Order: sequence, then C-alpha cells, then structure tokens
Amino acid sequence: MFGFSIPKLLVLFLIILLVWYGFKLFERRDYLSKNKSKNPRRESDQEKSKFKKDEVEDLIKCPECGNYFSSGSSCTVCSSK
Ligand SMILES: [Zn+2]
Repeated sequence: MFGFSIPKLLVLFLIILLVWYGFKLFERRDYLSKNKSKNPRRESDQEKSKFKKDEVEDLIKCPECGNYFSSGSSCTVCSSK
C-alpha cells in the first residue's frame, strides 16, 4: 500500500506545486497588469480625495446661520446680509 501511495502522493505534490507555481505566476501577471491600468486612475483618485479633504478641512460652520464657509473668508450668508 505504501509503495503505491507514496508515488501517488509525490505526483499529487508535484501537481499541487505546478498549480501553485502557475497560480503564483498568473497572480503576479494579473497584479502587474492591474497595477499598470490602475496607476493613472489611482493617482487621480488620490488627487481628488486630497482636494476634497482639503476643502472639508477648510470649511467652518457659521455659529449664527449654520452655513459652511472656507476658513480663508467670512460667512457668505452673514456677510451678504
Ligand atoms: Zn453665517
């Protein structure tokens, strides 16, 4: 039984190794191609989110009317009245 199962296990191990190696190669190729196609989109996303974050950080809620205005200027609602 052992004489039969050990070669069988070896073949199985070899197949698993081959599949794993192939999967690794495929995953790496997929990762590289994804990275290539994602890079420009990712950069623009980062720029967008950074811009949004800066806008949110700059906004201040007016204690009088509740309007949001940028910290660089005064409340647009209160100053226009
Ligand atoms: Zn105001």
